[in-house]
Amino acid sequence: FIQFRDLHKTYSNQLVVMDGLNLDMRSDDRLVIIGPSGSGKSTLLRVIMGLEGIERGEIRFEGQTYISGASNGLGNIDSEIQKKIGMVFQHYTLFPHLSVLSNLTLAPMKVRGMSREDATESARHYMRLLGLESKLDNYPGQLSGGQKQRVAIARALMLQPQLMLFDEVTSALDPEMVLEVQNVMMKLAEQKMAMLIVTHDMNFARDIATRVVFCAEGRVVEDGPPEQIFKCPQQPRTREFLNKVL
Ligand code: ATP
Ligand code: MG
Repeated sequence: FIQFRDLHKTYSNQLVVMDGLNLDMRSDDRLVIIGPSGSGKSTLLRVIMGLEGIERGEIRFEGQTYISGASNGLGNIDSEIQKKIGMVFQHYTLFPHLSVLSNLTLAPMKVRGMSREDATESARHYMRLLGLESKLDNYPGQLSGGQKQRVAIARALMLQPQLMLFDEVTSALDPEMVLEVQNVMMKLAEQKMAMLIVTHDMNFARDIATRVVFCAEGRVVEDGPPEQIFKCPQQPRTREFLNKVL
């Protein structure tokens, strides 16, 4: 489904954040990426989303070249493939001056040329799915953190992505709101959505992942089913990390 081949990325010509990163993802995978702070997890998601370039390597999507590196960091990106990917960030990025409904319908109407009627119907569908139908006419400022994050997920789903990226979407939330967002992600998992998830919540990682990927020093150190990574990690570097966070 997606292949990452020999990715290299450096910030400001000196800080190496990807140093030959290789990874394969299947369309039925839910990959959870774990690793030390600063190990480049967010950078990887931003690269996949097309928000950052890479200097070397290639990302393939369903056998086609999606992103290729260039020494100046401004490689090629296939914008048709880019549209198949949705992302949700740690800090909700809703437009505060727009109602929830308008937040949801804006991109489908502007970018995809969807009619207002169809976009509104689709917004109702996703808000029902995420248990928020009554909030369509509210503004983001009138929602709780957990509700805002669920709207952010619904907004990404409106564009019918084939892959969803989640970067620590619950880490800015109060504990009681974490679960409502995680439940929504579990629901997407049941529907076989391909997901790449960065989280510091190891219990959630264990529950949702088909595979857990431990990254450090710009590479994949270890990769396997959650039982293996959490119960009997093979690499000393993985063990050291898990001893600190578990
Ligand atoms: P965390 O777990 O704390 O979120 P992370 O694994 O997501 O960390 P990144 O945010 O990808 O790490 O950052 C990797 C490294 O690159 C860090 O050292 C960070 O300071 C640096 N970095 C990130 N973004 C930029 C940028 N735009 N310009 C320069 N350096 C950056
Ligand atoms: Mg990060």
